[in-house]
Amino acid sequence: MFEFTLQAQSGRARAGTFSTPHGDLLTPVFAPVGTAATVKALTPAQLHDLGATLVLSNTYHLYLRPGDELVRDLGGLHQFMQWPGPLLTDSGGFQVFSLSDTRKIDADGVTFKSHIDGSLHRFTPEKSILIQENLRPDIIMAFDECPPPLDRAYNEIALARTHAWAARCLAAKTRPDQALFGIAQGGIFPDLRAQSARRLASLGFPGYAIGGLAVGETKAEMHAMLDVMDAELPAHKPRYLMGVGSPEDLVNSVARGVDIFDCVLPTRLARNHAALTRTGRLNLKNAPFARDPLPVEPGCACYCCVHFTRAYVRHLVVANEILAAVLLTLHNVHLLLTLMREMRAAILAGTFAAYASDFLSTYRGTQGTDGTLGTQALSAR
Ligand SMILES: [Zn+2]
Repeated sequence: MFEFTLQAQSGRARAGTFSTPHGDLLTPVFAPVGTAATVKALTPAQLHDLGATLVLSNTYHLYLRPGDELVRDLGGLHQFMQWPGPLLTDSGGFQVFSLSDTRKIDADGVTFKSHIDGSLHRFTPEKSILIQENLRPDIIMAFDECPPPLDRAYNEIALARTHAWAARCLAAKTRPDQALFGIAQGGIFPDLRAQSARRLASLGFPGYAIGGLAVGETKAEMHAMLDVMDAELPAHKPRYLMGVGSPEDLVNSVARGVDIFDCVLPTRLARNHAALTRTGRLNLKNAPFARDPLPVEPGCACYCCVHFTRAYVRHLVVANEILAAVLLTLHNVHLLLTLMREMRAAILAGTFAAYASDFLSTYRGTQGTDGTLGTQALSAR
């Protein structure tokens, strides 16, 4: 269990298999996000039909509502949300730091107020592991601190805390049927990133996450940090880049040796009337689509594109119909999962560099005027 086997490498891009109690993950893999134990607008059957293998859910949200002990008593997260495949939870740290308006960090943990009712709560590394053991996904995450990426002094303090907390998470873990991943931090500072990778590797995790990216740094800074991580993280363990999922970021990160991704981007964009396509984004609310007989993305094999026109989807958006979100979510998730399968096939065929360069040459990236909306504001899980 939790063996990672590399099948092929093409350049630095990797194709592998990670075994979990609920099935093998073929990497590179993208996990749609089911924040509150549901990938918004999709049933588990639809997710399965799209070819999703891994789903992420959020510890912070499930702890507050409905409560991790309730999920435990009802058979764990797989049973509760009826997702039979591999599941992953985050540690709750990212949400505590980003959602809670008042939080107090000390060496032992974080005290915070619920964003739902303002009630007071405390997370420690031990508490985060206990909650994740109650939820019972296949992959759980170490409790870490995600500091602002450009603040060197803060990153040094936070890194020491993150490393101490990683060791406490390992010590607190009791279940053999869950893999605990460590999370490397260090902002945009190569020496801190390298130090973090080495420190975590010395603790011996079955997988490593790269945290604190796509949170306000430039693409060049993110790519430089991924290069450091690729060089420093153990080659024989999976690497998981947290909260990243725009098409161009997926291609550029797989090219730098990343194996696992999650992001709210495809589902959140869909609820905001936007379609991801191989050439860029479309906002289906726009007037030019009112009489457009084409599918959302010509050539796409998803249920939305095979059956419906842009004119119909725009009508649903304008009329505020639930089906608009369902169809656009189906399309967006289909696109990202298809992209991952194509990248894996290209790695196995030894042609990843050509695939990546073809894809990026026709893709209109999200940097620039509407770019910050893309991978930064929307990358928060
Ligand atoms: Zn489609």
